[in-house]
Amino acid sequence: PALRGAELAVSGLSKAFGGNQALRDVSIIAAPGRVTALIGPNGSGKTTLLNMISGFYRTDAGRIALDDGQIQRLPAHRVARAGVARTFQTPNLPAGVTVAEAVASGRYSTHRASTLGAVLRLPRFRRIRAADIAEAERVLELVGLAHLRDAEAVSLPLGNRRLLEVARALVTEPKVLLLDEAASGLDEDEVDRLAELIRRIRDAGGTVLLVEHNFRLILALADEIFVLAHGQVIASGPPEVIERDPRVLNEYLGV
Ligand code: ADP
Repeated sequence: PALRGAELAVSGLSKAFGGNQALRDVSIIAAPGRVTALIGPNGSGKTTLLNMISGFYRTDAGRIALDDGQIQRLPAHRVARAGVARTFQTPNLPAGVTVAEAVASGRYSTHRASTLGAVLRLPRFRRIRAADIAEAERVLELVGLAHLRDAEAVSLPLGNRRLLEVARALVTEPKVLLLDEAASGLDEDEVDRLAELIRRIRDAGGTVLLVEHNFRLILALADEIFVLAHGQVIASGPPEVIERDPRVLNEYLGV
């Protein structure tokens, strides 16, 4: 699958919910061929930032650009069409849907997990064309699930489900892949497989932005880390810098 990553640039982004300033003058860049990570304690604004990039919330101030195109005024479905794909946890997969069909259906529901069920319940997958299945199979090779193409998607164990969710995003040929807590609940082997996949996506030229609690995974995987605290970026840099930053240790790890 083609992975032509674009540069995602967020600059001067602010967002308040009522009197609660969730993000304050936040600037981050996620570059093609790199894994960029967003970390920070609960309530620091990570989800809000992902939601703003995805077009779910409007910005109060600031810009979000994909290469040279501004996307900060676009609604979520247009952001998805512009090439920003996001994984969602546990989409409601109907029984009987195969792994290949579930991935192929990703091409019809580029921004909402909830539409997956709707697509798949239409006169039984009529809308999933052979070309989409072929593309799905290429993606399944990439994520290492090709041998499970005919398995029932809903019966996959959690680790493979997460890989499937990444596959559903990749099948849209995204310019930017947003991963929200993709490793949560996975055991160590499953985390390793997910990390290996993310590296493969990066090495194929993809742009990956991940929000993750697993600090060990971030240090092992990220090329660039942005640390949020209280809605602001308090540090950024490669893992070897971040893991020694006293502000990060204080804010994030609470030591
Ligand atoms: P994180 O993902 O880092 O845990 P969030 O982005 O979820 O942080 O939250 C940042 C702040 O914004 C919190 O104070 C949270 O209560 C607030 N917030 C997030 N979303 C909303 C919303 N839809 N309405 C009101 N407040 C929100």
